[in-house]
Amino acid sequence: MSQHHFDCIVIGGGHAGVEAALASARMGLKTAMVTLSVETIGQMSCNPAIGGVGKGQLVREIDILGGEMGLAADRTGIQFRQLNTSKGQAVRSSRCQSDRKRYKLYMQQVVTQQENLTVIADQVMELIVSNGRVRGVKTEQGLELECLTVVITTGTFLQGRMHVGKEITSGGRRGERASVRLADNIRELGFEVLFFKTGTPPRLDGRTIDFSKLERQDSDNPPIPFSFRTKEIPKDQPLLPCHITHTSDATHEVIRAHMHESPMYSGQIKATGVRYCPSIEDKLKKFADKSTHHVFLEPEGMDTFEYYPNGVSTGLPLAVQEKFVRTIKGLEKVVITQPGYAIEHGVIPATELTATLETKKVAGLFLAGQINGTTGYEEAAAQGMIAGINAALQAKNQESFILGRHEAYTGVLIDDLTTKGTDEPYRMFTSRVEYRLIIREDNTDQRMAKYGRQFGLITEQEYDAIITKYALIEKEVEHLRNTSVVRVHNWIRF
Ligand SMILES: Cc1cc2nc3c(=O)[nH]c(=O)nc-3n(C[C@H](O)[C@H](O)[C@H](O)COP(=O)(O)OP(=O)(O)OC[C@H]3O[C@@H](n4cnc5c(N)ncnc54)[C@H](O)[C@@H]3O)c2cc1C
Repeated sequence: MSQHHFDCIVIGGGHAGVEAALASARMGLKTAMVTLSVETIGQMSCNPAIGGVGKGQLVREIDILGGEMGLAADRTGIQFRQLNTSKGQAVRSSRCQSDRKRYKLYMQQVVTQQENLTVIADQVMELIVSNGRVRGVKTEQGLELECLTVVITTGTFLQGRMHVGKEITSGGRRGERASVRLADNIRELGFEVLFFKTGTPPRLDGRTIDFSKLERQDSDNPPIPFSFRTKEIPKDQPLLPCHITHTSDATHEVIRAHMHESPMYSGQIKATGVRYCPSIEDKLKKFADKSTHHVFLEPEGMDTFEYYPNGVSTGLPLAVQEKFVRTIKGLEKVVITQPGYAIEHGVIPATELTATLETKKVAGLFLAGQINGTTGYEEAAAQGMIAGINAALQAKNQESFILGRHEAYTGVLIDDLTTKGTDEPYRMFTSRVEYRLIIREDNTDQRMAKYGRQFGLITEQEYDAIITKYALIEKEVEHLRNTSVVRVHNWIRF
């Protein structure tokens, strides 16, 4: 019998896994994170950025519940921008460009130093289930870990298959193994496994980009932090510019000529792709009337010369990727450092879950992140937070925690997934949120600090500071309500 007993086991150390494991451990539960490698905890698989429209709201909600994503973004951001500032408060969101390497190192440090949290580098092969309840996990290295609750956050790894042109490799991310046995075991437990597709662009050597031809986009300065716990972004934190360029007729010609080699259009990939973050092949097919598409050249970090060309995700063969990127202004002599690729991965229909993210079939088993059919770090982390809190509450025999659609973006995300399901990768948008005039980024602390405090995930001092802030605002509003301004001649009399 197993020597190892935990209250909660989290499978995976991606964005969902990190928040789930930290929440459980910080709620006082003996927690284990079993993940393929410690060096990839907190890894950004695709674009080095946090936030964005609809996503910035999620980051703020994770933060006020005591999560780590906002703090990590503040500490490792290299460009911060408020989006939609010319529009109303309901659709304003924060976004930052992150230093990819520093972001994951920050997360690794927090996770490995967290009290009550043991990190095990191993692959979970099977769940131990008896009488309809999860009892633990079995790993590749022969460990049998017992527990009361399990959170699965396997992201793009569940039976993942990567495609570059005709070349297909089993893997969860470039250079990393897929999680195949666990997918089979999940099927044996009676769950259906569907497949979704996503993709990433090639990475470019910034030393071979001609920035002099391109439009420059600078950071807001001073930047506005994500976390209510960050007073300000330090003045000496370097802020880097992004640059904007565009695809051209020549780019589209190359891609069209090789469309038959794209795994998405050759019939090689059957899974449904991300509608709102399409590959460049998809853009050409779906928006055939457009003669150009934006490409944002985003720096990958402070001490790397790699650039991320946001907007040209592709599964075309490497030689074609090279050919088409060199038709883009500023990239005529560019060198590709890593090819773009498409990936298909297993997803469990989220209608199998309750609003706490526990499966209906197996008690004590929770699912969070991309495995539930979402796409994006923020969507994953928000689910990780809720699954982690609920897995901990269940292990403590306490009442579960459900956020309503009327009070949080996270509530809308989980309600949409668990009640309607999704037949394509789900991304958060402000338009999904019926109460967006009321639930906004700027009042997240007012709406949700009580929950962070309820679970002990934010301190009493932090909570009191928020109560004081809103008491002062209320006092001032009352003062303005009771003050009339009368204009007499040229004088103003109160
Ligand atoms: C090629 C690619 C392109 C993408 N493009 C986009 C995009 O354009 N836009 C967008 O919003 N998002 C994109 N994403 C998705 C984004 O990366 C994910 O949404 C996000 O990382 C999901 O977080 P997660 O925590 O669910 O899983 P992940 O970040 O994938 O983490 C999964 C974790 O589980 C671990 N793991 C897996 N199986 C096991 C096992 N059996 N035992 C132990 N540990 C295990 C892994 O080691 C890893 O730590 C892309 C991802 C990839 C790979």
